[in-house]
Amino acid sequence: MKLLCPVCRETLEREGRAARCVHGHSFDYAKSGYLNLYLSHKTMHGDDADMVKARTSFLSSGAYAFLREELKQIFTEYGSTSLVDLGCGEGYYTSYMPQSDKAAFDLARKALMHAAKHDPDTLYCVSSIFHTPLPDACTDSVLTCFAPVASDEIERILQPGGIFVLVTPGPDHLYEFKEILYDTPYRNPMKDIDTTLRLVDDRMIKSTFTADQSLLRDLFTMTPYVWHTPQENKKRLDSLETLTVTAEFRIRIYRSGK
Ligand SMILES: [Zn+2]
Repeated sequence: MKLLCPVCRETLEREGRAARCVHGHSFDYAKSGYLNLYLSHKTMHGDDADMVKARTSFLSSGAYAFLREELKQIFTEYGSTSLVDLGCGEGYYTSYMPQSDKAAFDLARKALMHAAKHDPDTLYCVSSIFHTPLPDACTDSVLTCFAPVASDEIERILQPGGIFVLVTPGPDHLYEFKEILYDTPYRNPMKDIDTTLRLVDDRMIKSTFTADQSLLRDLFTMTPYVWHTPQENKKRLDSLETLTVTAEFRIRIYRSGK
């Protein structure tokens, strides 16, 4: 997939360990292989090292493997040949997708380091998902999995007839886990997104997994619960040997009508 210079929007060409445009703007590939196209020197958003480690360890248990399978099947069904993953994290889903041409974006450097090391076939870039270094209509599919929806950007980069696949937590996602952590657990609300793309499919998939203490700890560290849980409730979690938890995902598929 062609990338554009984030400064002047000319095409970037790879020269050794850097990507350069005709105007001499130059960006370095990290040792692990991702490309840093983020212009700001401000503190980066994205996940810290502990969170990345916990998520990598959790995902390797296979608890969410059924989601990965479902996504792969969807892209195969739709005959998708290129993929832009917006908010790719450690590349757990990206790396498994069937397209031959893949680019993936995130601001979490530590996550991209892991992703690029394990998946040299995808182009991983540090970049805002709201302003990607991509030309208009450059891909036939876009994936957003547990990340904010960059509607305007998705509409811009999708080819006519291309698809956008959105994954969000289903109502019962991790409900048993929340029952332990919160005195009044809630079901996840379902929200519509603001887009001109046409919704063509809306499915819910569900499975359960049984987590031991180490997996529960990973799950706790990788989610926002870590910030909102009273100490006593955290103790309740520590006292469990295992917990069977529901994983539920809503998958929406939109088509570009341009
Ligand atoms: Zn440039």
